[in-house]
Amino acid sequence: MRVELLPALTDNYMYLLIDVDSKEAAVVDPVEPIKVVEAIRKHGVKLTTVLTTHHHWDHASGNEKLVRLMPGLKVYGGDDRVDAITKKVSHSNTFKLGSLNVKCLFTPCHTTGHICYYVTKENSSEPPAVFTGDTLFVAGCGKFFEGTAEQMHKALIEILGRLPPETRVYCGHEYTVSNLKFARHVEPDNEVIQKKLAWAKEKCSNGEPTIPSTLADEFTFNPFMRVKEKSVQDHVKQTSPIETMRSLRKEKDSFRVPKE
Ligand SMILES: [Zn+2]
Repeated sequence: MRVELLPALTDNYMYLLIDVDSKEAAVVDPVEPIKVVEAIRKHGVKLTTVLTTHHHWDHASGNEKLVRLMPGLKVYGGDDRVDAITKKVSHSNTFKLGSLNVKCLFTPCHTTGHICYYVTKENSSEPPAVFTGDTLFVAGCGKFFEGTAEQMHKALIEILGRLPPETRVYCGHEYTVSNLKFARHVEPDNEVIQKKLAWAKEKCSNGEPTIPSTLADEFTFNPFMRVKEKSVQDHVKQTSPIETMRSLRKEKDSFRVPKE
C-alpha cells in the first residue's frame, strides 16, 4: 500500500490510500476535492472509495462535490450526518480495496459516529495503517464533544492500542508540536517527549509533516495513551486510567500552549 499525504485547509490532512497492485485508491476525508482530483491524476490511480472519519465540516464537507466530480464513488462513514454517505458502517465491518483489507473501528467520543479505518495487506510484511481522524492525534487526542472519558479510554487503549505496535498512525490534523508541549507539561522528565518535540519543530519549520507515527511510539510520548503510567496519573492526582483520561482532557482544553 501507499499513502499520499494531502494537506488541506490550515492544518487538516486528507490521505490518498493506494493499492499498488491494482491501482485502486480511496481517499480519507476529502475536504478539498479539487486537490484530490489532481492527486489522482498525478498518481494515475482509480478512485473508488471515500472513507469519512466523522461528520465535522473540515472532514466531510467535500464529499458532495467530490461525488459530483466523480460519480459512482462509494462513501463510507459511521454517522447519518456524513454528507453523501452511501455505506453506513459499524464496528468490525470489513471491505476490500483492491488487495487491501479495510476494517472499520467504531470509536465514538469526539463525535458519536466516529470511525477509524484500519488497513492491512494480506500475506505481506508491510506494516498496517490506521486512519484515526479526530480520535487519536500524534501525541494527543480529539476533544470529547459528544462522548465521555470512558469512551475515549476504550477507543485509545482497548481498540487502537491493541492493534499491532508497528501500525502507522495517520491522523486528521497537524497538531503534533502543540500536543507535545502539553505532553512535556504533563511529564517534564520524559526525554522521549523532549526529543520528539525537537524533531517535530524541525519538521514543521521545514514545512514537512510529522505524520505518520506508530502506535508503539504513541505509547512512549502521548499522555492520553499513557494513562496507566504513574508519572501521568501523578500529574493529574488520579489513580485510575479513566479518571486520568478525564482530568488530562479537561486540563488540555484550557491549556495555553507556550510560544517558543
Ligand atoms: Zn472533528
